[in-house]
Parts: sequence; structure tokens; C-alpha cells
Amino acid sequence: MSDCTVGVLGGGQLGRMLALAGIPLGLQFRFFDPSPEACAREVGTLTIGAWSDHEALRSFAQDCDAVTFEFENVPTASLNALESVIAVQPSRLALATSSDRICEKRFFQSCGIAVQPFAEVGSVKELDIALATVGTPGVLKTRSLGYDGKGQCVVRDARAALEAWNSLGRMPCIYEAFVPFEREVSIVAVRAKVDGVVQFDAYTLGENVHRDGILHTTIVPARVHSALIASAREHARVVAEALDYIGVFAIEFFVADDVLIANEMAPRVHNSGHWTMDGAVTSQFENHLRAILSLPLGSCAQQNAHTAMLNIVGCVPSASTLLADPSLKLHLYGKDARKGRKTGHINMCADTSTELLRLLSCAEHYSVQCVL
Ligand code: AMP
Repeated sequence: MSDCTVGVLGGGQLGRMLALAGIPLGLQFRFFDPSPEACAREVGTLTIGAWSDHEALRSFAQDCDAVTFEFENVPTASLNALESVIAVQPSRLALATSSDRICEKRFFQSCGIAVQPFAEVGSVKELDIALATVGTPGVLKTRSLGYDGKGQCVVRDARAALEAWNSLGRMPCIYEAFVPFEREVSIVAVRAKVDGVVQFDAYTLGENVHRDGILHTTIVPARVHSALIASAREHARVVAEALDYIGVFAIEFFVADDVLIANEMAPRVHNSGHWTMDGAVTSQFENHLRAILSLPLGSCAQQNAHTAMLNIVGCVPSASTLLADPSLKLHLYGKDARKGRKTGHINMCADTSTELLRLLSCAEHYSVQCVL
């Protein structure tokens, strides 16, 4: 393993945390990113290049033993260029399915997973049809390239719909019913093939709270009954089989009337799995690397009864203040503070839910004292 180099498309915090998990396994890392500021540059070699620079991508791939991505909007033509040199995992099928919200919803349906009513919007006529069939309130989202609540608008009545579509630049969209959910949960799972034998495992279901479309906290385990937990795991298994998936992925669900409604999937390590760095036997980052390198998976078991993760957004807290609490684990990404930008997260583990809530309020208290 000592001379095994993993190439990562994208050099953001997910790439950085992959390297932080892989270096102890003897792996080396290369990152490809258009930005010289990419924060993974501190833990591997950074190739700065445009996604359209196929020559640079091919030469990047030549220096790698395996290639994966932490940024799922890699253009298909760039993948073609890379795959003339080396296979990329997870596969292009997973990437293509999850990068278009309409394909993704149809794919969930084909797996027998419930989704909210939805319709395609590519013209004013289709917008009218979508409103008539799905009703209001609803959410209009760009079919691709949306993240952290960007590229979407809540539509409260038919009159607001055209305005919403104009504000999204009349891009191809999905219009979906607004789900009055009780909770949001996500399952982070991993699938590998080791000597031709499939291994699948999933982490404990997490409960997510978003603020302004950005993940704020994940609490593990999610406060839902055991039948829903089992069904989330089974949905993840079916999805992974259908895509012949290799690596870590996440599926986000709404819980409404005791039913899981799939919102979206991410074909990569996921923010709602960051708790696994301190709260699971093997982190999602290590397991992703094991999977793409066809190594046996590590246990996904949760180590404490209760775990939580709090995202730090828009500021960088003082490490010395935060570390004053011995139970808080700080993970900073080496990024400058900017409004709405994730700069780090705080993990905490506890034996009781009361203790976890105490730690969460402590972490919130410290992170609001952030410096911009
Ligand atoms: P997304 O980019 O689809 O993950 O959406 C970001 C967040 O917006 C979700 O985690 C929800 O909190 C909220 N949201 C998105 N779509 C819907 C919907 N159809 N109904 C209710 N809330 C939604």
C-alpha cells in the first residue's frame, strides 16, 4: 500500500478528510481542482486545472492507482477523458443518476422507494401542467448543479411559480410537492467487492436539521422507530445493488406520516456522515477508500450510544475556546470564512441523550462566538 496513490476529483473538505483517513493506511493523495485555494492541497499534491482540460486530466490519472471524486458535477466529457486511462469509482451510472433530480426520482421509484409527486419543467406550458398535477405548495429546483439549498425556490401559490422559474434563469427544473415532514434522516452506506464478493454495510441512521438549506446538525441515532430504520437500510441496499455501486453514498429522506420519502442521494462521502470520524469504528472516509481499493470494509458500528455533529458555517471558531470542553472534537477545513461557507464541524459522543444535548448546546455556544 505504501506506493498506492489515490486521485480525487475535487480538492474540497471531503477530499481533505479522505486523505486524513487514508494517510494512516499508507496511501498517498493527488487532487484535481480548478482552484489553487482548494483546501485539500495541505494533505496531498494538487493539480490545478479546468474540468475541460482533458490532457491535464489524463496526465493526472496516469499518476494514480485509483480515482474517485468528492465533487459530483464532473462533466461527462471529463469522465470520458479520465476513463481512457483508469476506471473511476463510484461509476458514471451512479454519477449520472444522481446528478439529474428527475432521473434520480425515477430511479428511486424503480427501486420501490416512495418519492413526493413531481413533474419536469422546461417551458411555461410544462410549468402550468406541473402546477396542475402536483399542486401547491411545492419546491421548484434546478435539475442539476444545486447544493446546500441553492438553485431552489419554494412556490406557495401558482402566481409565484413563474417568478420562481425566472429567478432560476429558466433552467430545466423539477417541480415537486412540498413535504410537511416531521423529520429529515439520512442513511450513509458503503458497498465494495472484495475478491468478487459483495460487501455491504450501513451506518446508524442519522437525523438532520437544516438551516437556510444547509445542514446544521446530525444526531445519531435518528429518533424514529425501528421499522423505519430497517427500511432505510434496505432502501440503501437495493439502491447500491441496482447501481452496482462501489464506495460510500448517502440517501436523504423526509419522514412524513411514518413513511420514508426519498429526497436525494449523494454518490460520495456525505456531510451527514462526518460524525463517523469520531463516533464509528471505521469512518465513512476510510470505508470509501477501502471500497474503491477493493479492501475489506471496516465495521460501521457506532461506538457510543449517542453521537452528534454540528457544522460550522460562515466563520472560523477559536480552537482554544472550543477545545476547553474535553468532549468536543473540532475538525477545521483550512478554509477562510465566507458567508454560508462550511469551514469545519464539531463532533461529540455521549452515553446518554441528556449528555449529548448538553454537548450540542455547548458546541453551538462556542461556534456562534466565531470570528469572521
Ligand atoms: P435539497 O437540496 O433537495 O437537499 O434541499 C435542501 C433542504 O430543503 C432539504 O433538506 C429540506 O430541508 C428542504 N426541502 C427540499 N425539498 C423539499 C420539499 N420538497 N419539501 C420540503 N422541504 C424541502
